[in-house]
Order: sequence, then C-alpha cells, then structure tokens
Amino acid sequence: MKKIPVGILGATGIVGQRFIQMLERHPWFEVSWLAASDRSEGRDYGDAARWRLKTPIPASVAKMRVSAAMPENAPKVIFAALDSGIAAELEPRFAEAGCAVISNSSALRMAKDVPLVIPEVNPDHIKLIECQSWRRKSGGFVVTNSNCSAMGLVLALAPLHKRFELETVMAVTMQAVSGAGYPGVASLDILGNVIPYIAKEEEKMEEETRKLLGTLNGAGVTLAPFKMSAQCNRVAVEDGHTESVSVKFKKKAQAAEILEAWAEFSGIPQVQKFPTAPEIPVRYVDAVDRPQPRFDVEFGGGMTTTVGRLRQCAVLDWKFTLLSHNTIRGAAGAALLNAELLKAEGYLE
Ligand code: NAP
Repeated sequence: MKKIPVGILGATGIVGQRFIQMLERHPWFEVSWLAASDRSEGRDYGDAARWRLKTPIPASVAKMRVSAAMPENAPKVIFAALDSGIAAELEPRFAEAGCAVISNSSALRMAKDVPLVIPEVNPDHIKLIECQSWRRKSGGFVVTNSNCSAMGLVLALAPLHKRFELETVMAVTMQAVSGAGYPGVASLDILGNVIPYIAKEEEKMEEETRKLLGTLNGAGVTLAPFKMSAQCNRVAVEDGHTESVSVKFKKKAQAAEILEAWAEFSGIPQVQKFPTAPEIPVRYVDAVDRPQPRFDVEFGGGMTTTVGRLRQCAVLDWKFTLLSHNTIRGAAGAALLNAELLKAEGYLE
C-alpha cells in the first residue's frame, strides 16, 4: 500500500517529537513535511529541535528542512501540535486550504461542529466533519483529541457510564512535567514540589469529559448530563498523569461488574486492528500500590490506561486510581488513532 504523506505542525515541540517517533514505522502514513515557528523555520530539523525522547531522531527526519507554518506546499493530512493561541489562527487556515487537520490543541475542541474523538469511545462523532464550512468549501476539516488528563479518565469512565450511568465524577490529578511542553515548568519550581494549579486544565477536563461521553445530535453534541469536578496538580514525574477518581452511578454496581466492564471494553481500533491501537485499552492491576508511572506508563506502548485500587467510597459509590501516558495516549497517539479512524472511514481519500 502506498503511504499517505503527512505533515506535522509544531514538529519541534514535545508532542511533535512524539509524532515523529510514532510515525517512524507507521504502515499507513509517512512524514513528508515539518513546520514550527519562525525560530525553527529554514533550519534542519535535527538542529532546530531539542530532541527529548529516548529513541534517536529518525535519520531521514533529522535532515528535513523545517517549513514555514503555511498551507502552501503542505500535504493534505496535517497532525497539529501547536500552542493553543497560535492553533486558533493556523488550524482553520489549513482546513480552509483543504487539509485534514488532526489536532491536539484545545483551541477548537469545544466548537460545536468540531468532533472531539476517542475512537474506542465516540467514533460516531466524526460525522460532525460534514457540518464544517471548510468541508463544504474545500474538503478540509478539523478533528481533535482531548486534553491529556481527560483522555485516561474518559477511557476508564466510558465502559462504566454505558453500564451504570454516571451521576457524579470527582477527579484529582497528579500530572507529569512533560504535559507542560518544553522547556515547560522551571526545575526550581517543580523539583521536590507539587504545584496545585495548571491554567485552564480543570475547566478543560470537566467540559471535554462531558462532550466525549455526550450524544451526537445532528449538528452538535449534547453533553453527558453528569456532574463533574476536577482538581489538577503538577508533580515531579517525567511522563504519565495519575488520577484519583470517585464516581457515583445511577444504577447499582458491584465491584465484580465494574472489573468486568473494564475487562470487556474495546472498540473499533481493536476490532479493526488499527496500527496504533493497544490490544487492551483499559487494564486493571490488582496490586495494592499500583498503578505507578515508573512501572505502568509504558504498558501497551503507552496507549493503555491502567486502573487500580478499586474500592468503595464513603461519600460517592466507588473510587479508583488511573494512569495514562500524557504525550502518547494523551497526545500524539490519540491523534494517530483518530487519523487511523478517519482513514478507515474514508475521510483521507
Ligand atoms: P511545546 O513543546 O511547547 O511545542 C510547541 C510547538 O509549537 C513547537 O513546535 C513550536 O515551534 C510551535 N510553535 C509555537 N509558536 C508557533 C508559531 N507562532 N507558529 C508555528 N509554530 C509555533 O508544546 P507541546 O507540549 O508539544 O504541546 C503542543 C500542543 O499539544 C499544545 O496545544 C498542548 O496543549 C497540546 N497537548 C500537549 C500534551 C502534552 O502532554 N505535552 C498533551 C495533550 C495536548 P518552535 O520550536 O519553533 O518554537
């Protein structure tokens, strides 16, 4: 099969680097274009990017010239990993020019006609693409994946919401420093410390979770009706967001039924064996002191959400801990899985 050429907007950043790593041997897509800010434009990628990953920069990519972030000469499939301020300006411009923009940024996630998608959870929401004016004018469109802390949470909640209907969700996060991009949080601020504030993160978690678990209603999504409260903290962990979650359901749930719902959970990516799909989207670990970022974050190539410590909650019904890789499942891997869904559904022809 001839591979589809793809471009990366924001290729030099933390998420851009993950895209390059995850696309290196991708069977369907091939990186043919890289773009970033004026600071990087015109330089060789290997020189412009401060590579922070443990695998080396692919040799072919290191020699590629970083282009200006403009749609002229860009391929028709664009993975976007831009800061949200600039994403709000550039993503529509690429969609207008006829590109499929598969975005990581928060800029357009909550727009009425922009799908916010996790392929295992709400693949039907991609139909919103047809409501976008860019699609009608040039064929271009924007599809988004969620905030990195909403991602793990929604994967763990989706099978429970389906069976027992969520009434209330409370989540407290302990988020890795790589979630803040590069250079991100200054070492003097985070070493030996916890920062109980991440700008706009709590709002994003609360609204995105309800959009992802909401219902498609023609030209938009009706948010899932449960109450949700998030508290977000930055901690001195390299990769992996840990979350302490309490839930209340409308229907009564036994522990064994909750474990069964997680164990049975799978979706289109698993059934159709998408290249980036984890075999197990949600796994439960039985040990009393897991999940832990150091031991569990790489499970399933960083695409699996690990859950543990299920126990009764004296205030709501049940509580548990989850862990999700923020730059893989929460960012580049999420967008790649969305691209695989779009390809499977004929949107990248
Ligand atoms: P980052 O490391 O700060 O990278 C930002 C990228 O945007 C760099 O490539 C930068 O290029 C580029 N850029 C900045 N200003 C630009 C401009 N005016 N024109 C074109 N390119 C510009 O950030 P990140 O962590 O990769 O995050 C990227 C996006 O993904 C953000 O919206 C973030 O919220 C979202 N996200 C991040 C994570 C995570 O875990 N890190 C998870 C989910 C979603 P230069 O290098 O040339 O400056």
